[in-house]
Amino acid sequence: MAWDFSTEPEFEAKLDWIRTFVRDEVEPLDTLFPSCAFLPLDDERRTFVDPLKQQVREQGLWAPHLGPELGGQGFGAVKLTLINEILGRSSWAPIIFGTQAPDTGNAEILARFGTQEQKDRYLTGLLSGEIFSCFSMTEPQGGSDPRVFTTRAVRDGSGEDADWLVTGRKYFSSNASVASFFIVVAITDPDVPVHKGASTFLVPAGTPGMTIEATHQLFGAPSYDPGHSLIRYDNMRVPADAILGEPGQGFAVAQSRLAGGRIHHAMRTIGLAQHAVDMMARRSKSRFTQGSSLADKQLVQAYIADSYTELMPFRLAVLHAAWLIDTQGEPAARAEIGACKILASKVLENIARRAIQVHGAIGVSEQLPLANMLLGGLVLGMADGPSEAHKVNLARLLLKNYVAGDPDWPDEFLDNRVAAVKAKYGDLIDRVPALPL
Ligand SMILES: Cc1cc2nc3c(=O)[nH]c(=O)nc-3n(C[C@H](O)[C@H](O)[C@H](O)COP(=O)(O)OP(=O)(O)OC[C@H]3O[C@@H](n4cnc5c(N)ncnc54)[C@H](O)[C@@H]3O)c2cc1C
Repeated sequence: MAWDFSTEPEFEAKLDWIRTFVRDEVEPLDTLFPSCAFLPLDDERRTFVDPLKQQVREQGLWAPHLGPELGGQGFGAVKLTLINEILGRSSWAPIIFGTQAPDTGNAEILARFGTQEQKDRYLTGLLSGEIFSCFSMTEPQGGSDPRVFTTRAVRDGSGEDADWLVTGRKYFSSNASVASFFIVVAITDPDVPVHKGASTFLVPAGTPGMTIEATHQLFGAPSYDPGHSLIRYDNMRVPADAILGEPGQGFAVAQSRLAGGRIHHAMRTIGLAQHAVDMMARRSKSRFTQGSSLADKQLVQAYIADSYTELMPFRLAVLHAAWLIDTQGEPAARAEIGACKILASKVLENIARRAIQVHGAIGVSEQLPLANMLLGGLVLGMADGPSEAHKVNLARLLLKNYVAGDPDWPDEFLDNRVAAVKAKYGDLIDRVPALPL
């Protein structure tokens, strides 16, 4: 099968439009309204933001991750990669294009598993970018291993119509302070392994029994940033139809959002890392020390070459994963998505660190976005599961393709290969290896 990431010229024209629009119209919002992308719009921000969203809609580019059934264009993952790598340069761009995490994944869950009433209530607002949502799974005692989760949901009464009562604590629930609804993961059957005994619930903000105990910001973020909250659920009553999917399907439901989210992050990371490379290259040509520009120093040249040789294969890996998603579906691309998730963190971290180094002192100041990019690289190695856990999962997936051999002698053991070759060719050869005399 041919690998083909090409797109038609009409789409290239769209990418050109996005590039110019993001650079000229959207990136200024990052300076004007820093860390405000996830705040509900006040009149002042709306004056700037709504006309830009309107322009995106008029170009047919709103919510480019969505299929036509949800009002998107059905671009598919390869084209989405090419769009998202441009959007990755700006923290406001995903909002302006209606494709911001975690709302994209939450909308996907709602569309797939929500009741008509839940969709009517939230999906339109979410897809139009008017409301935000929260995914509440990680617990204070640990996020990497769901087996330590203790948040429980129990029926208040018998029968399938009985309400659920949810009790427990969740941590690092992003945007909880501004969310209109929450998707909460809770154990409904503690007698089976957690992957079969957890369920997801759709919970409106302000439901009695839900308390935001604290909100933590990422390092350097302002206090008005919606941040990541510690939430207590205390006998929180939700109706029977708050459950998304079937009881016990919670992890399958959660996974259905996480895979898409991970590759979307990787797509945006390409653009962010490219931004750091551009900054590093320009600075190295502009700054002089010890008789020549930084660009003339071989160690700085190595930074630029190393960054390119990391970014280029990462971009190809993301495009390849996207192509697999388009041609064979997301489940067929599990290993590739996992690899991109692991790579994204390392590539951004490495490149941001080099770009900071080339900028010298100003590189670590609040004047440049580079320290934030470095933090972004670290965050990518934790959010949606730490890199270590993804490596374990990836290795398990890859190892399924192999069967164990002879425990004494490795497959490529020379004596065994010689015996096999002799057995294959018999009298045709009298010595191995068959070197010319
Ligand atoms: C910016 C940000 C936003 C987030 N948003 C959300 C959100 O909206 N909703 C939500 O539910 N959660 C969210 N999270 C939480 C995230 O999913 C967890 O941080 C992640 O799953 C890791 O859990 P933990 O932080 O409890 O670390 P722990 O589980 O305590 O792990 C700590 C470290 O242990 C190591 N480790 C873990 N497992 C293994 C292993 N198998 N092998 C080797 N080493 C290992 C890793 O180095 C890991 O970083 C967010 C996190 C961040 C940073």
